[in-house]
Order: sequence, then C-alpha cells, then structure tokens
Amino acid sequence: MDYDFHEQYRVKPGQSVSLAKLPTTTNGPFPKKSHGRAFTAGKVEELRDWQFRLYTQARQSLLIVLQAPDAAGKDGLIRKVLGQMNPQGCRTYPFKVPTAIERAHDFLWRIHQCTPAHGTVAIFNRSHYEDVLVVRVENLVAEKVWRKRYDQINHFEEMLHDSGTKILKIYLHISREEQLRRFEKRLKNPAKHWKLNPSDYTSRADWAAYAEAYEEVFTRCNSERSPWFIIPADRKWYRDAAVAAIVAETFEKMNPQFPEADVDLEQIRHLHQQAEAAIG
Ligand code: AMP
Ligand code: MG
Repeated sequence: MDYDFHEQYRVKPGQSVSLAKLPTTTNGPFPKKSHGRAFTAGKVEELRDWQFRLYTQARQSLLIVLQAPDAAGKDGLIRKVLGQMNPQGCRTYPFKVPTAIERAHDFLWRIHQCTPAHGTVAIFNRSHYEDVLVVRVENLVAEKVWRKRYDQINHFEEMLHDSGTKILKIYLHISREEQLRRFEKRLKNPAKHWKLNPSDYTSRADWAAYAEAYEEVFTRCNSERSPWFIIPADRKWYRDAAVAAIVAETFEKMNPQFPEADVDLEQIRHLHQQAEAAIG
C-alpha cells in the first residue's frame, strides 16, 4: 500500500489547525471496510514484531499519547490495536481526574512516573494534555498557571526525547453527530451503562471551547520530534487502520534490531556439544 498515513495526518510544525475543517469521515485508500480490517490485521502483526525487537534491544522506548473527546474510541483502539502488543513490554496508563495526592504535586508528577523505560512501550489514555484542555475549558486553575504549561510540556517532552523516548501524539477526531450516536448506543446497552457520565454532556456542550484548546495545543506543542496526528475517527475500522499504520511507521524509523550476542558463541557451541555428548 502506497498511501502515506504518517504524512497525511501529521500536523506539520508551524501549521495552524482548524479542526472544523478537517474530515472526520473517510475511507482513505480502502475501497471497503473489509480491506481496511485486513490491512489492520497485517499491521498489528508488524507492531508485535517491532515491539519484540524494541524489547530485546532495550535502548529506546515509545510513548503513544491518546487524546480525544468522549466516545471517540480511545478504549476501542487500545483493545483492538495497541493492546495487541506483548504485555511484557507494553503498558497502558489511563489518566483520570487527579487524586488529592496528585493535585498536591506539579501536574507532570503523575505523568513522569508512567513514562516508558528503555525497551518498552507506554500508551497514555489521556495525558498531561488534559492540564491545558479540561483544565482550561473548565477554569480549574488560573489562566496564568495553565498558560505556562505549553512551554513546560515542550521542555518535558524534549527531555524524554533526549533520554531515548520517541513520542507519538494521536488525536481521534470525531464529529458531534457521531459522538451523540455513540452516547445513545451506550444508553441502550446495559453493558455500556458504566461508561456514561453527566460530564460527557457538559463537555459536549463546550465543543467549540475544546476545539479551540486543542488547536492551541496543536500549534504550540508540536514538533518534528514530538508530532501530533489528527485521525478521522467516525469510522472505527478506519481509525484502527490509520493508527496502526502510523505506529508501525514510527517503529520502522526507530528501527530497533535484535542485539548481537554478548557472550562467546564458540564457548556456547562447545558447551552445547558437551551437553549433547552427555546424553549419549
Ligand atoms: P474517562 O477517560 O472517560 O474515564 O474520564 C476521565 C476523566 O478525567 C475525563 O473527564 C477527563 O477530562 C478527566 N481528567 C483527566 N485528567 C484530568 C486533569 N488533569 N484534570 C481534570 N480532569 C482530568
Ligand atoms: Mg468517559
């Protein structure tokens, strides 16, 4: 497949984004849903292979940040695509309303504890960006406090980059109409009632304010080293395909390889022969 998902959906440094003008619905290069699904299945296998190499190499790490409106599909994406990597080297961290202890620290304190060690992948279901999104829209701290956070986030991410962590930031872009359809499905399905929250509807009412807050993030906290991707997410199968492709391409650029043996292979072969001889 020639389609370059990475370039298609990457926010270019310096680019200003108007979310309302970006598509939420597309088939991209796929004639049909079934093609997209088959493509994703292949990409998931690639992700597993890359992740194993990253794990054995143990010299770099990958941080995938997921941000989106409610019901945009972060959980589904993790379940169906990103969570398919080997749990031995991949963990998901959901960030909820900060606890009293978390609030008694700086906003990056809880985040930094979850960044990936060399050889591992971390998936953030929400992130430090909430501290310039919900916090800004709902006036949870003074403007002069959150205003400084864009620079603080950039410095933090730069530091992670210098420590060997590749950062990939993904925004799932859904339409207001599709969000309401998904809320309705949740209401009708008792197995999904636990997901419902009145705050889903209050955030929805602030749609334009959230869009503005996101747009500022895309302008101020986006670079070649720490890029944002805006993924059309009204079609779940397309969201999965596009994200799988982008993560696979990121791994490809990181290019982790199995390390060379750091033991004397001649010695091991000799020991092996002895072990074989011993059983006759
Ligand atoms: P969910 O991801 O749907 O389980 O919901 C988590 C909730 O926690 C969302 O409403 C987020 O906006 C909220 N949340 C996450 N981080 C923060 C934060 N730093 N400050 C305030 N609310 C937050
Ligand atoms: Mg929710």
